[in-house]
Amino acid sequence: MSDPIKTDVLIVGAGPIGLFAVFELGLLDIKAHLVDILDKVGGQCAELYPEKPIYDIPAIPKISAQGLVEALVEQIKPFNPVFHLGEMVQTIERIGDPLFRIGTDDGKQFEAKVVVIAAGGGSFQPKRPPIPGIEAYEGQSVHYAVRKMDIFRGKRVLIVGGGDSALDWTLNLAPVASHLTLLHRRDQFRAAPDSVNKMMALTSEGKIDFVLGQVTGLEGSDGQITAANVKRNDGSTFHIACDAVLPFFGLTMKLGPVADWGLKLHEDLIPVDTGTFETSEPGIFAIGDINTYPGKLKLILSGFHEGALMAQKAHRYVYPDKKLTFQYTTSSTSLQKKLGVA
Ligand SMILES: Cc1cc2nc3c(=O)[nH]c(=O)nc-3n(C[C@H](O)[C@H](O)[C@H](O)COP(=O)(O)OP(=O)(O)OC[C@H]3O[C@@H](n4cnc5c(N)ncnc54)[C@H](O)[C@@H]3O)c2cc1C
Repeated sequence: MSDPIKTDVLIVGAGPIGLFAVFELGLLDIKAHLVDILDKVGGQCAELYPEKPIYDIPAIPKISAQGLVEALVEQIKPFNPVFHLGEMVQTIERIGDPLFRIGTDDGKQFEAKVVVIAAGGGSFQPKRPPIPGIEAYEGQSVHYAVRKMDIFRGKRVLIVGGGDSALDWTLNLAPVASHLTLLHRRDQFRAAPDSVNKMMALTSEGKIDFVLGQVTGLEGSDGQITAANVKRNDGSTFHIACDAVLPFFGLTMKLGPVADWGLKLHEDLIPVDTGTFETSEPGIFAIGDINTYPGKLKLILSGFHEGALMAQKAHRYVYPDKKLTFQYTTSSTSLQKKLGVA
């Protein structure tokens, strides 16, 4: 086995919160390596909704999810984070006080003084709808996420579901698709009322179809769908001709190996101290969607705040003999030098 990679901090997950943690740690001279199962950085933003605009990042009125990821990557460049993509952190073992040995499913080993778990929903996976034979079309004409809207340009698209994702993608893809149908089993939605109103408006203008029913089967060959068989609520059946089907039945939040790391868990989330975002294990922190505490909001801005406080406590483990003085980036030349702007 090769020698372990030594680092101050190992961050599990390179979603937006893991990325921003690099910045807060970097300002305190703490070096980080990041490991992510995905083959790219950005977590849910990059994987699930890269082209959707986000409106609630402070001081940025509107930015696409992928744009946010790119801006974060740019912001952390001065701190030279090292990414290990396409690898899953499997084991975390305490070997010192504090020192951890971390192992990935690819056989890589790390030694870190601090571990920051920024694992979001763990290994999040879309729920597969109970449609016989759907596997044969997945990745070709059945998609559980929209990575590039353009692949649906000029196509007949069938969106199935009644939650936020189904409604959001109906609105976003309506101008792109040659024809779009939203299929839901009832006329009530688990989505933002504004999105439902906009969808209803498009339906009454004749720009999309909204149909009540459930998909019972798919027609096509070699991975390419040509039609979906649909059963109405009164039991009658019909076909919807389509080139692509997008089922949005929610995500399965699979905690994965996080459950085996000896941490206290609450409903598959990691409880943390809200002054430091440390877990029940000293030296192991949890930030972003993976943690829980009274009043927790699964928002990107919450995770950014959590990363800033985490870094303050991490400093004590990485530099036990150094006093930490609070400084602003606007006025501290020492911080500006680290950022390469002074
Ligand atoms: C459709 C949609 C729209 C949204 N809109 C907004 C919005 O407008 N505003 C907002 O603030 N939030 C929004 N969110 C929520 C926001 O995306 C999340 O709060 C945010 O992504 C959480 O970031 P994170 O870094 O904690 O986790 P994630 O983005 O989930 O990233 C976690 C990463 O950890 C990796 N990982 C997990 N376990 C392991 C392991 N064992 N080893 C290696 N890697 C691992 C995963 O692969 C993943 O890449 C939206 C979410 C969705 C789905």
